[in-house]
Amino acid sequence: MDFKALANKYQTPLYVYDLDYMSSQYEKLKLAFKGRKSILAYAVKANSNLSVIKHFADLGSGADCVSIGEVRRAILAGVAPYKILFSGVGKKDVEIREAIELDILYINVESEAELGRVELIAKELGKISRISIRVNPNIDPKTHPYISTGLHDNKFGVEISTAKRMYIKAKNSEYLDPVGIHFHIGSQLTELKPIYEASEIVADMLRSLQAIDIELKFFDIGGGLGIKYDDETTIEPYDYAQAILGTLKGLDITVICEPGRFLTANAGYFLTKVLYEKQNGAKRFTVVDGAMNDLLRPSLYNAFHKIEVISDAKSAFSKADVVGPVCESGDFLAKDCELPLLEHNDLLVVHSAGAYGFGMGSNYNTRGRSAEVAIENGQDRLIRQRESFEDLIALEKDLVK
Ligand SMILES: *Cc1c(COP(=O)(O)O)cnc(C)c1O
Repeated sequence: MDFKALANKYQTPLYVYDLDYMSSQYEKLKLAFKGRKSILAYAVKANSNLSVIKHFADLGSGADCVSIGEVRRAILAGVAPYKILFSGVGKKDVEIREAIELDILYINVESEAELGRVELIAKELGKISRISIRVNPNIDPKTHPYISTGLHDNKFGVEISTAKRMYIKAKNSEYLDPVGIHFHIGSQLTELKPIYEASEIVADMLRSLQAIDIELKFFDIGGGLGIKYDDETTIEPYDYAQAILGTLKGLDITVICEPGRFLTANAGYFLTKVLYEKQNGAKRFTVVDGAMNDLLRPSLYNAFHKIEVISDAKSAFSKADVVGPVCESGDFLAKDCELPLLEHNDLLVVHSAGAYGFGMGSNYNTRGRSAEVAIENGQDRLIRQRESFEDLIALEKDLVK
């Protein structure tokens, strides 16, 4: 990929996504589940650009959404409503109402209180709402605590015993149709055992529901498949699928998988130009034009992203912190990164930036968010304009007294 040409054509900071890589990841995972009815529902929050969602929709993907805004994006991008799921612990009444009206596949319910709201709203609408219940299997996924979701300490899902009560309530309701069971234990999972254990617990629950005549159609295993940022050992899609399918022997059920990071992370690159080198005592800083408002993961999780240097610099390498212009000491893209001495306008390419990159961006410090570019069949095209100052003040400027 000619990063230099892209940086010159579209300016920096810039996100670049390789759509062909996204396709190959999608096909790899889809293939792993062959021999079973399965739906891959792309987790839109990983990268919610409309062109990215459309790319997956064209491959036959569904969408896992965590706000009604994401549901609307998915529909706009061409995802069939019967392949859209709506998850999340805090859905508002208006969101639940719209989801029922749009007739999406199901709402993933995350508490007893929410189940009550969904029933009430379906009743008001005179409709039946398809639901799934997110079970919290209390399994430690061995990932970063901020992206662990399947422990009782986490806010997500309900305990098995609570879930059972909820299924019985749903089954007896005129306005609810329980069709699925869901778990999602965390993100960036690199060990198979916790997934297998969670799947076993939830599959047992499924069997115990069958025993009381609650027949579900969907076994929703969430997302979370990890990727290589550095030298992690990751789970092969085939092994992942086999482990899960192994817990479902004898069950006639459609598997739904909600991958996000696996599909998009390593398809994305964040391009940023060097502004200055500076030295504070013994400490070297390479100041670049991209910042935490563009790519938050290093600041938020201390996440590692590989940095590639595109420069003619020939000096010896030394350790530098790569920092942005934002007025926070937590504003960095990399710490103690071995870099040659760089010059103004040298280019750095931050790898694995296609998931939880642009989407976590903000306008902090009145910085417009980056442009986004897609590469497909060797051709580049703009898929989101760079935000201008006018965009940033649009909702305020007429309200100044
Ligand atoms: C975030 C999320 C996903 C996707 O997680 P990845 O780690 O990106 O695969 C899937 N399902 C639910 C419910 C989520 O919250």
